[in-house]
Amino acid sequence: MNEIAANDILLQMNEFIILLDMEGKILFINTAALDVLGYKEPELLNKPINMVCQTFPEKFENVEPNKSIPAEFKMKNGSYIAVVMSFSTFSAKGQKNGFIVTASDNGEQLALQKKLSEIVGELEITVEKLKKSEELRHGYIGMVYHELKSPLTSAKGALALIAGNMSAGLTDAQKELLNIAKTGHERLLSMIEELRDASKMESGTFGVVKYSFDINRSVDMAAELTAYDLSAKKLRLVKFYSSPALTMFGDENRIIQVIINLINNAAKFSSENQAIEIGTLKVKPGADAIKNGVIEKAMRNEPYTMLYVRDCGRGIKKEFVEMIFGKYFQVKTEDAGKHKGMGLGLAIVKGIVEAHKGFVWAESEGEGKGTVFKAIFPDTV
Ligand code: ADP
Repeated sequence: MNEIAANDILLQMNEFIILLDMEGKILFINTAALDVLGYKEPELLNKPINMVCQTFPEKFENVEPNKSIPAEFKMKNGSYIAVVMSFSTFSAKGQKNGFIVTASDNGEQLALQKKLSEIVGELEITVEKLKKSEELRHGYIGMVYHELKSPLTSAKGALALIAGNMSAGLTDAQKELLNIAKTGHERLLSMIEELRDASKMESGTFGVVKYSFDINRSVDMAAELTAYDLSAKKLRLVKFYSSPALTMFGDENRIIQVIINLINNAAKFSSENQAIEIGTLKVKPGADAIKNGVIEKAMRNEPYTMLYVRDCGRGIKKEFVEMIFGKYFQVKTEDAGKHKGMGLGLAIVKGIVEAHKGFVWAESEGEGKGTVFKAIFPDTV
């Protein structure tokens, strides 16, 4: 048998065949061993056998060849395979040149392990593909956002101009149409903003810039920005400030976004003429104001700034109070079609609060009994 044929046979045997030099470095390793262990040949050639099999002692010269012993090989993915190994010296021209290691599982384990490695390999490829398509999806959302943002911003200016300077010359029907255009336009803008925020949160690129500011002022600003919608539904916003100014540490624009979102939701699910209460206060761990369990997760001893928004509206069934913070989640109700939204608002609120290392949750005594949303933000950096 010529040299190439012998080599081919060694390579293709189902058992592990490994050749070591006198120091235990790998000189040859066959395909069966490489496949099962999950390595490529260059990763193991000239590396000590201990890298994959701890049955050998550190000092290799003292190793006594033996017949068959149970041993364990460590695979690249960190798991182990049990084998029966035999280990003998090989000599050429009367001189001891190294060792031959053969190993097999005497059964089906090697074949199973090989199959498993193949499956793991396929899974790794699938995960890579998924990652790529996720990156593409986030890329598309970013692109769509930028493509839509500038025409929508120009349209906003044009609509504001018509509604302002030029409104005197408009008929009632035209004013009505203008209002429909404005509402549709605002909805489109907030949809693309929400999609972009959600995509950034998913891809881990969402960040906040923190500094000290007065959260009462943020509530005032959010109240001004939502006043029109609230008055259209004859809703009253009652503010409760525990002190005239309440300094917190965070990204003010993002906190205003949270407040607007919570007020809009409260308005959406309230009936005409009801009141919505919004408040800010400082709370300490253990205070009744903090839901049991939330603060245990927080594990902090310093005070928190709390923001809450309470409504007397539809309420939320107990089984849904946590689910509503999930993406695209909306509680199914008969009047669901009446309420516009993509189910992203609270997921974004949660993302923003968590980017501040805070917590947000909802409390409701059940359907028809109103809801209170509470968010706490740590007072430290
Ligand atoms: P959407 O923009 O669709 O309202 P959100 O993420 O803001 O999405 O809210 C998810 C769901 O949580 C809503 O569809 C609604 O079922 C419920 N929800 C949110 N806020 C309130 C509230 N104040 N009262 C009752 N249900 C609410």
